[in-house]
Formats: sequence, structure tokens, C-alpha cells
Amino acid sequence: MNEEAELLRQRGEPVIHLGIGEPKNKAPINAILNSTAKLRSGDIKYSPTDGIPSLKKAIIQYTEENYDKRVEPENIIVSSGAKQAIYNILFALLNPQDEVIIPAPYWVSYPEIVKMVYGVPVIVTPEDGGLHPRMVDITRAVSPSTKVIIVNSPNNPSGLVFSRDFIKEIVEFCEEKRIYLIMDDIYHKLVFDGKKATSCYEFASQDIEESHVISVNGVSKLYGMTGFRIGWAIAPTNLVRVMTNIQTQTTACASVVLQAAAEGALTGIQSVVENLRLTIENNRNVIMQELKSFLGVRTVPPDGTFYCFPDFTAYQTDSVKLSEFLLKKALVVTVPGKEFGMEGRLRLSFAGSVNEIIEGIDRMKWALDPSSPNEIYIGDRKMVRNWL
Ligand code: PLP
Repeated sequence: MNEEAELLRQRGEPVIHLGIGEPKNKAPINAILNSTAKLRSGDIKYSPTDGIPSLKKAIIQYTEENYDKRVEPENIIVSSGAKQAIYNILFALLNPQDEVIIPAPYWVSYPEIVKMVYGVPVIVTPEDGGLHPRMVDITRAVSPSTKVIIVNSPNNPSGLVFSRDFIKEIVEFCEEKRIYLIMDDIYHKLVFDGKKATSCYEFASQDIEESHVISVNGVSKLYGMTGFRIGWAIAPTNLVRVMTNIQTQTTACASVVLQAAAEGALTGIQSVVENLRLTIENNRNVIMQELKSFLGVRTVPPDGTFYCFPDFTAYQTDSVKLSEFLLKKALVVTVPGKEFGMEGRLRLSFAGSVNEIIEGIDRMKWALDPSSPNEIYIGDRKMVRNWL
């Protein structure tokens, strides 16, 4: 769909992208300064596989400030994005046929990475038809082969921040059953309405070396630094050692220039995160307002991230067909719910501009909602709806 949208764009078509998974802000100045200073030094070599010590120091401080958790450098491995961190963890932990529980809706890469390392993804869909995972469904899916559970809150694609009770229960359950819990916290500060994402460490009662709780984080989303490709995992020392062995034989280390940028972001002016959060919260309000008057579309308001995941079953249950239809008729890019393990929904991103959000939803309404005006301008072309 992205490729098709790009082709349309190259032909000069006014495509609106509500599928994007990254904020539009420029990289923080401290990230740029630190990485240019590193480049200027000309001393661009391999770093230790698990990350440069000064970045690890910044991560320790970040973890202390944001999670009230003290970790040691040996508990940290820096990777080329949270994605590589998750890959390393699963590669390290899974034997062939080990099962990984993934609550739906989920980030598209989890099941694919599990399969790449010969594990078996076990998708758990809330039986109440909602978007929030439930312990009752998860515990029912646990088998003697369950090795890992992956939890992502604030959640891509639903935008939900999972309840404190749920985080408490899942941490306690995993510690008791000795199942590894991967907490993907990549959006943890992009939260709205004064809410806060619950930290897994609040309920982890075991020492980090004994605990089965692993957290994943990075600079991609909070600092708008997706292209820098820096993420990290915090885990027991032994696991970090195995992950380091894996990384040695794949990428050797994350680029020192980009690690310097991440260090700059983490130690620099933190108001960039709050500014981004405020912009995104405003965009969330705009998209919710627009969706309110979209006949038949049901949406749970997102508490965080830059996504919402409305239900379009009133119009079409096949999300791929719906997404293709919207691109063809309205020149709006969306992501089909099927990719996230839930049909009948579309993931809409509000990371773009307010104008794009308003115009994108207006075009979608025009294409689908019979109560909306049947004429619209797309670019400078007047379009008439003749299919409802
Ligand atoms: N985890 C989730 C839930 C994501 O949505 C994404 C990116 O879309 C990632 C991880 C990957 O982050 P990174 O850019 O650090 O690899």
C-alpha cells in the first residue's frame, strides 16, 4: 500500500498518509550536536558490542528518572533500534517450537520475529471483543511450551495504556511461573490526559538478576528519531551476555555516530519530548472530534502513542479491501487491522499535521459515509461519489 501510495505521489496525486509510524518533528538539537561532534572527531570506529559506556550511563540515568529503577551497565544492551533489541531477546530465549504469547492487537513485527527464530506465536484476542488484554485469556493460552509473553503499553495500534491492575497481574504471574515478560515501552512517555504508563518495575519483586522481566525502549518515538536506529533492552546480566554474542555476529554494534546522537537526546533538553507529546495530544483531540461525526465508526479514544484503531465493520469487515478502497477512491493511506491481528479495523495515525488529519478523515467520510456530502475536492479535482 505504501509503495502504491508513493507511486501515486510521484504522479502528482494529493495522497494523504494516515499510515505513518513516526512523528514529524526534527531531531533534537542535542542529538544533532553530539553526533556531529563525533563525526567531526573523525574517530569513527567499532564500539563495544553492547553499547558505548557514556550512552549506557545516560540510559541508567533515564531508567532511574523514569522508572525509579537502578540498573547496572551489565543489564543494558544498546541495539540498532528497539526492533533489533526484541529480535536479540527472542533469538536468545527461544528454542524451536517454544511459544510466545502475543496479545492482539499487536505490533506487526512480533509474530514475524518469533517465526524467524523458529518460535511459535500464540495470538491471544480478548474474548470480550475489546482492545485491552485480559489475564483470563492470557492464562488460558499458557502451555508448558510458553517461554515469553510480549506486552506493549501504550499500545501500537490501539493507543491504549494498559491498566495498572493488568501490569501488576502480568508481572506477578510471569515472575511466579518463570515466563519471560518483554515490556515494549517504546511509547511510554507519549501519554495523554495526565495519565502515566505503569512501569513494570513497580511490581517486579525479584532482583533484576533473578527476574524474568525485560524492558525495551529507544529514542525512535519519544524523540522523533526513527532514522537514528537506536534502542536498548534492560535484562538480567546473563541474558544480556547472550544477546551481546548474537549482536556480535550480526551487526557488531550500533553505529557510534548514532549512539552519540541518542546520548545527546537523553542527556539534552527534555522539553522536546513534552513538546512532541503536547502536539500529538492535540492531534489526538482533532482526530477524535472528526471521527465522532463518522456514522457507524466506533473508536476507543487512545490514551497514548499516535495511533487509533477504529472499528469500520459497519462498512466493510475485510480491512485489506477497505484500505485498498480508501486509497483508490479517496487517496488516503491507512493500515488494515488484519496486520495487527484484528479484522474490521483500520489503524489511523495522527502523527501528521492537523490539516492532513482533518482532510484525510473528511475524504474517508466522503468515500464511505452516505450521510456526508457527495461532492468533495481532492487536490483541485471535484469528485462526485457515485457508489453509495
Ligand atoms: N515496538 C513498537 C510497538 C513499535 O511500534 C515500533 C515501531 O513502530 C518498534 C518497537 C520499533 O522501534 P525502533 O524504531 O526503535 O526499532
